[in-house]
Amino acid sequence: MARFIFITGGVVSSLGKGLASAALGSLLQARGYSVRLRKLDPYLNVDPGTMSPFEHGEVFVTDDGAETDLDLGHYERFTGVPARNTDSVSSGRIYSTVLEKERRGDYLGKTIQVVPHVTNEIKDFLAVGEDEVDFMLCEIGGTVGDIEGLPFFEAIRQFSHDKPRGQCIFMHLTLLPYLAASGELKTKPTQHSVKELQSIGIAPDVLVCRSEHPIPEKERAKIALFCNVRKEAVVAAYDLASIYEAPLAYHKEGLDQAVLDAFAISPAPRPNLRVWNDVYDRIHNTDGEVKIAIVGKYVQLEDAYKSIKEALIHGGMSNRVKVRVEWVDAELFDSADAAPHLEGYHAILVPGGFGERGTEGKIKAAQFAREKNVPYLGICLGMQMAVIEAARNVAGLKTAGSEEFDHEAGKKRFEPVVYHLKEWVQGNHKVERSSDDDKGGTMRLGAYDAALSEGSKVAEVYGSTAIEERHRHRYEVDIKYREKLESFGLMFSGMSPDGRLPEIVEWTDHPWFIGVQFHPELKSKPFAPHPLFDGFVKAAVENSRLV
Ligand code: GLN
Repeated sequence: MARFIFITGGVVSSLGKGLASAALGSLLQARGYSVRLRKLDPYLNVDPGTMSPFEHGEVFVTDDGAETDLDLGHYERFTGVPARNTDSVSSGRIYSTVLEKERRGDYLGKTIQVVPHVTNEIKDFLAVGEDEVDFMLCEIGGTVGDIEGLPFFEAIRQFSHDKPRGQCIFMHLTLLPYLAASGELKTKPTQHSVKELQSIGIAPDVLVCRSEHPIPEKERAKIALFCNVRKEAVVAAYDLASIYEAPLAYHKEGLDQAVLDAFAISPAPRPNLRVWNDVYDRIHNTDGEVKIAIVGKYVQLEDAYKSIKEALIHGGMSNRVKVRVEWVDAELFDSADAAPHLEGYHAILVPGGFGERGTEGKIKAAQFAREKNVPYLGICLGMQMAVIEAARNVAGLKTAGSEEFDHEAGKKRFEPVVYHLKEWVQGNHKVERSSDDDKGGTMRLGAYDAALSEGSKVAEVYGSTAIEERHRHRYEVDIKYREKLESFGLMFSGMSPDGRLPEIVEWTDHPWFIGVQFHPELKSKPFAPHPLFDGFVKAAVENSRLV
């Protein structure tokens, strides 16, 4: 049965709880344990799938098709453990399950209350698959004291009480603000935040204190005394040059040791940090830099393309170069010349997106990359735009468009090169959708296989002709146009196994131009960069040598 580590936060939000959880997970793996990480989010959306990237950053999709919080991306990138549908839950999902049960009469006429019905539902969620791993790390979103978070805090309190002693511990992240005027780190907000936790029956075992300055021994002792934790369990978290230094930095500060001590695991297995030392070396020993443009719509909020940015960093690590990512707003050249905005980049990436805004700019970015031989990676919408560009400007289908936009724009006559997919095959069964389905969870979601053409660029990049990648989209490139586009050199080099859905396109007479209908960025890791990002950065390096 798993040991549970509950991770909570106090004082302010955005302290890096997700990162601390992920880094701790990787350190426990380094000591030979198996782990799984989970996120419990107090908001009322059933999942983040319907939230705007401006609100919530990227939606991270799992193999089994769940649309989850971007912290699950961190968990996967640090531990390599593929997240599942059952690793992410929100108040919305919990309440909707409770209400469904109530309607079905499952509660046998009882009055339904937060305690015990909602808290029981949360506890059931925590227990799923608990026999499978040595450690289950559960992060509670938000900050202690938030009204919405209370049922979750109450549930983890009860959960730890239900388990045998010593099977659950609590780790709390706080902030030590620095007052420049007096040159001091202040511990009072941490004391208050721990008091808040204690008032709901939770006593932290480990405190992780974010600080911009070294924590003096005296302050550490004071925090330990006032917060009722052991001095060694007050762990410092300093700012880092790269998030991938976090496992080594936390290890140095004694986080994994403090956690094992809290479980009274003695002697603690020795850690093997080879992977993270190698990652550290690749970040700090680079030769040169490439400049890559991400041409998108949500450029004000970098979290909207979190996994893409990380995957590019991984590609830089495998090629031992620094990758400088610049965000270019596609709307700037929706109806203007793209060249002044795109010149000088060693490669161009057009990421996924929804809705018409900025798409004309993205089409121009694909055209620019094709004509100027600049390496191009089109992801999901970025592939669809590349196909529309090819149809309009190369194959002579002047009105080529996508049903996603032209449909909304009053059904003008156009060539639907990209159409709304209404039925497809997943594994052994057929999935059907209609245009007026709910917006939540109704896309082609999760892992699907693709067959790559022998001899294609993409087969070379993957070193394989059979792949499996994660999807999140409603629209598809229409196979009807394959023959025509291929006759002009746009090869459909990856297809769904039944041959009906184009998964990958590439220009055969271009140094590196690949569009993919899926999201390769979701599977990239610092210690195992995704082949497409490795290849794309390599092509950028080659291009940088030419200019
Ligand atoms: N909006 C497009 C679709 O639904 C692309 C989605 C995406 O880029 N994730 O097909």
